[in-house]
Amino acid sequence: MTIPFDDEPVCCGICRRQAVGLGYTPKFGKRIVWTCDDPTCLSLGKTVFHMPAKNLTQQEAFSLSEAGEEAGAYLESIGKFSLAELTEEEWIRFLKTVLNAFGDRMRARLLSQAAPF
Ligand SMILES: [Zn+2]
Repeated sequence: MTIPFDDEPVCCGICRRQAVGLGYTPKFGKRIVWTCDDPTCLSLGKTVFHMPAKNLTQQEAFSLSEAGEEAGAYLESIGKFSLAELTEEEWIRFLKTVLNAFGDRMRARLLSQAAPF
């Protein structure tokens, strides 16, 4: 994945949920890292903007793997191990688990790398 410099707010550059009209750009910058309205995501815009793409990609991969583990734990909790067996409600909860866990893990990982100010 690459740093999301969309022309308009589409996806949050940190958690990938819907972006709002908030973001980070350096003074006189031409690109913006859009964010959602989560205060932690807002505070991490600068960190992501200046993070080397390779580092961000690595953090995203770790976060996605951890989100997958959490979604797997959900499947275990309901005793289903094939996605084809899920009801529509279970499928939506599975997807939300991946999405929300990814965002939580990204925020936690990036906070640990953010400059302390
Ligand atoms: Zn966000």
